[in-house]
Amino acid sequence: MQYPKPLPQVTKDNREFWRGCKAHELRFQKCALCGHVRWPASLICPTCHSKRTDWVVASGKGTIYTFAVYHVAYHPGFKEDLPYVVAVVALDEGPHLLTNIVGCPLDQVKCDMPVLVEWQDITREYTLPKFRPMR
Ligand SMILES: [Zn+2]
Repeated sequence: MQYPKPLPQVTKDNREFWRGCKAHELRFQKCALCGHVRWPASLICPTCHSKRTDWVVASGKGTIYTFAVYHVAYHPGFKEDLPYVVAVVALDEGPHLLTNIVGCPLDQVKCDMPVLVEWQDITREYTLPKFRPMR
């Protein structure tokens, strides 16, 4: 069966991130000059404008920075999931990632809640990072 939702848009800059997801690793660019860990992936560091970049693997741990419960599907592929949580997770390493919170009753999702990455293999090529409460 075909995946009913939009697939990630892979670019030259974010390819390593999506390769990491496939390997169940959260890979982010880290500036080789100032150490800033960034997302979204980009050619230059937004802090010091250096082009010298390394890739690091994040722990997968973070906290919910903000979230919303979706009761309306803005794409037909999400209808089956309603209601669901869209959240910005602040990772321990710094980047903020737009994602979903899974494995948690909707009324128990809270800002600052500690969460851990959970991988969803959606196609043969793509894996998405979702987050669930840390127990
Ligand atoms: Zn930098």
